[in-house]
Amino acid sequence: MMNKSLKRIALLGSTGSIGTQTLDVLHRMQDDFVLHSIVAFNEVNILDKQIKDFHPSKAALFDNIAAEKLSALTNIPVLSGNEGIISLVEDPEVDIVVNAIAGAAGLLPGLAAIRANKRLLSANKECFVMAGHIFRDAMKNGGDIIPIDSEHSALLQASLAGKHKEIKELILTASGGPFFNKDIDFNTITPEQALAHPNWSMGQKISIDSATMFNKALEIIEARWLFDIPSEQISVLIHPQSIIHSLVEFNDYSQIAQLSLPDMRLPIQYALTYPDRKNCPIDKLNLAEIKTLTFHEVPVDRFPAISYAYKALELGSLAATVANAADEIAVSLFLSEKISFADISRIIGAALDHFAYDNSYPEIDEIILRDRETREWVMKKYP
Ligand code: NDP
Ligand code: MG
Repeated sequence: MMNKSLKRIALLGSTGSIGTQTLDVLHRMQDDFVLHSIVAFNEVNILDKQIKDFHPSKAALFDNIAAEKLSALTNIPVLSGNEGIISLVEDPEVDIVVNAIAGAAGLLPGLAAIRANKRLLSANKECFVMAGHIFRDAMKNGGDIIPIDSEHSALLQASLAGKHKEIKELILTASGGPFFNKDIDFNTITPEQALAHPNWSMGQKISIDSATMFNKALEIIEARWLFDIPSEQISVLIHPQSIIHSLVEFNDYSQIAQLSLPDMRLPIQYALTYPDRKNCPIDKLNLAEIKTLTFHEVPVDRFPAISYAYKALELGSLAATVANAADEIAVSLFLSEKISFADISRIIGAALDHFAYDNSYPEIDEIILRDRETREWVMKKYP
């Protein structure tokens, strides 16, 4: 018989970088958690292997044909499409939803989790960028959100040192990506160069976003909504070693930081065990060995993408949706070598200028429509 105190997990994006690391963490914590379901886009063979290795009770693939193929390989129910994914999220047997889907595709499943009053552990940041005000509203009914993104996990941990009203500033650290310290022409950068992150091994999209620093723009907007702090009180500090994962400054000018070696298994595990802590098999941080931690201001002229966060927060969630959608298309055009690295930031800026923003707090349908219109606009302009 199933132990009632076991928490049941739906893992969305199980085949990705965060998804596979979450499976690794869960595998060591079988006394506390049980994997209820796994979800991916179309990776039939990886999902089939994960079903055999980790024994979830249900699975879903976004892609219908891939879901049919998986059905033929396994005995467990396989659902498909957004409806299938959302029905797994809403399943009464599920206690915790881990959202590790990449990009805007994580929006509706993440929102469904909060609306069904689940605990949502979110690596996906795009959902808060596009609809942060809707998530905050939906949380009033009882669901809660624990961030997996390392900076926001650090902010959560540091924020526990004081009260919300005592917070003066959220200071997000950024590695600066592979080009911060390099004298390199941004028009000549290849996908291979941009994918080589100095400290973290991540999915392709977020690796490119780290190189342009648009990832930090997304994280500023994510922090604004997750911590309910206005954008004037959120800043970015370049810290190339990625040891300090972010800091909270309180009204007495105390700054509280969270430090550890860069390894996503720690924020994933902390989100699972929050507010408790458990042993984690990552390497111990030895500051005497590291010796030097350095800090720099962001050179916004080289990384204009970062300034779009403040602009989007001023204009409202439809602008943040435009910036995010334009970046998703621009990154895929760059990866297929159709545009230059410098074009990514140019395209986001041009898209932000193109659209009008008369509603700061749009409904979800308006957000989804604007996301689609932006993608179409970018693809038409840069075929
Ligand atoms: P990956 O590209 O490695 O993985 C993406 C996952 O999402 C895959 O499992 C993919 O399935 C699935 N997926 C994509 N589209 C859909 C869809 N429409 N429906 C269902 N599943 C879908 O991404 P990452 O793991 O790097 O990133 C995931 C999220 O976590 C992003 O929002 C990212 O910003 C955030 N994040 C990532 C970090 C990292 O270290 N990687 C750090 C902090 C945040 P399939 O394999 O079938 O295509
Ligand atoms: Mg991050």
